[in-house]
Amino acid sequence: MSQRFFISESIEAGQLELTGAEARHLGRVMRAQPGDQVTLFDGQGCEALATIQQVDRDHVTLQVDELLEVDRERPVSLVLGVALPRGDRQKWLVEKLVELGVSSLVPLVTERGVAQPTDKALDRLRRMVIEASKQCGRNRLMEIDMPRTLEDFCQAHADFPRKLIAHPGEAAGGLDKQGLMLNPDEATVAAVGPEGGFGDSELDIADRHGWQRISLGPRILRVETAALALAGLTG
Ligand code: SAM
Repeated sequence: MSQRFFISESIEAGQLELTGAEARHLGRVMRAQPGDQVTLFDGQGCEALATIQQVDRDHVTLQVDELLEVDRERPVSLVLGVALPRGDRQKWLVEKLVELGVSSLVPLVTERGVAQPTDKALDRLRRMVIEASKQCGRNRLMEIDMPRTLEDFCQAHADFPRKLIAHPGEAAGGLDKQGLMLNPDEATVAAVGPEGGFGDSELDIADRHGWQRISLGPRILRVETAALALAGLTG
């Protein structure tokens, strides 16, 4: 059985218990049997091969066979603050950002934002992170941070060497795509605005905190396209 399963406790040698949705998936959906081998990951960077010992209604007992040293993370971190789009576009965005190795996604609360995520919505996105990580082989979970205003976001990430705010048509005064690719080794924090764009006062806030404006080309991109472009261009 080649599927990956997420375990919320850190993986160490010995016996482990899989519980909740992951145990139900393994036991009821995959119809796993004692003796089957699966891959486990703990979301903190560890992956292991483990053999199923016992399958119960809501939990599965496994024995770790081998701890695997696999690092599929980016060499440097990328934190993205995004004014989230609505509904399915939000889930799609989270899935793709996990695949592209983004370290942390911060929902931005902006002047013109449409979706202000509730705790329940954030929990759904965190579940999406696990599903996407199972699929793409990532062993460290992308963090879904608490929602922040731009001021709060800038303050919380002041120590990053590269701080960017995506704004259409800003190449003359800021960075363009080529400039962005010149320093792939710098830990980066970047902000993407809502469909209506950042307001002037928000752009002023970013200026005051020394954030660089970046153009992603001559066309206006949807929120999720802009976020994916930034993730792709920064390594
Ligand atoms: N009319 C809005 C404006 O002029 O800002 C368009 C907003 S766009 C749909 C949503 C967000 O994606 C923007 O706030 C920006 O962060 C990012 N974005 C979209 N296209 C971009 C581009 N060509 N260059 C830089 N950022 C872009």
